Amino acid sequence: MHEPLGRAARRSLNGAHAGEVGVMLPPFIDHHVHVELVDPDPIVALGIAAVVDLGASPSVVAARAARDGLPAVAFAGAFLTAVGGYPSDRPWRPEGSVRELAAVAGGDGDRRDHTALPDSIEAAVDEQHAFGASVVKVVLNADAGPVFDRATLEAVVTAAHARSLPVAVHAEGAGTASLAIEAGVDALVHTPWTERLDDELIARAAARQAWISTLAIHARDFGDSPELACAIDNLARFHAAGGRVLYGTDLGNGELPVGVNAVELALLERAGLEASDLVQALADPWPRAERGDWGLGGIATFVAGADPAVPGTSPTPLPDRLATARVVPADDLELL
Ligand SMILES: [Zn+2]
Repeated sequence: MHEPLGRAARRSLNGAHAGEVGVMLPPFIDHHVHVELVDPDPIVALGIAAVVDLGASPSVVAARAARDGLPAVAFAGAFLTAVGGYPSDRPWRPEGSVRELAAVAGGDGDRRDHTALPDSIEAAVDEQHAFGASVVKVVLNADAGPVFDRATLEAVVTAAHARSLPVAVHAEGAGTASLAIEAGVDALVHTPWTERLDDELIARAAARQAWISTLAIHARDFGDSPELACAIDNLARFHAAGGRVLYGTDLGNGELPVGVNAVELALLERAGLEASDLVQALADPWPRAERGDWGLGGIATFVAGADPAVPGTSPTPLPDRLATARVVPADDLELL
């Protein structure tokens, strides 16, 4: 349960839907997209004011983020991965979007003294930071190639944290979520779907991590399947343990509906998130520290009708109501 973020409001008499009564909410953010793989601009008309790009050519995404107008873009820059690791061999990867990094010496999970970090890891993190990244993206896909050992992953985390950047990991395949949690990673970019995490590991994840949901891609790729059930079970226990859940769709990964995705929200409900939790997942400022850090002070979300975070006020299912959200200038709303 989160504190409701909504305030009753009426649309101004000058614009579209003059005088319509509803709820003003903070700007909604899709916390996992790829702007090089899909044009994000159309999502603004469908309720999303900002996006977090989690893997792109740093120069391309930095240029996109510097552009005026919506959606606002925060980004990770390049995918950091092991030599030969996913997605270095994928045809869809944009030019310059993958940095393959050699393992640090003495790996195999040994705790190391990180006072002498290998230059290549610091340089790779510095490069993303110099382009303006807000987060560092690491790929650990054990089902599709080599992954960092623990010492190397810890070196990436140390280098990122030294620049006040969180680390977000794609964990796929046996042991990768555990590796990310043990190494002090701050976020998982997909709810883990390839293996069940035990309660003890979930508790540790909930204490330190944010998880980006992306349940709808699991549903799309596998249907109502063991993989989807696994993801929902992991997320349900993560949420129940107090974990920070972020709405994210992986927009750019194949065919997905544009805008606020009602399927994603319905699957989050199946994982036990209540109305106020869904709104919080959409409005969480991650990876920026504060909502105000997005520079969206003049922007709000408007949902017509009763406050969607207050249960039982509308016969329409909550995911469908939230999918009607619109991005509006805050000035066009009069608080009631
Ligand atoms: Zn992605």
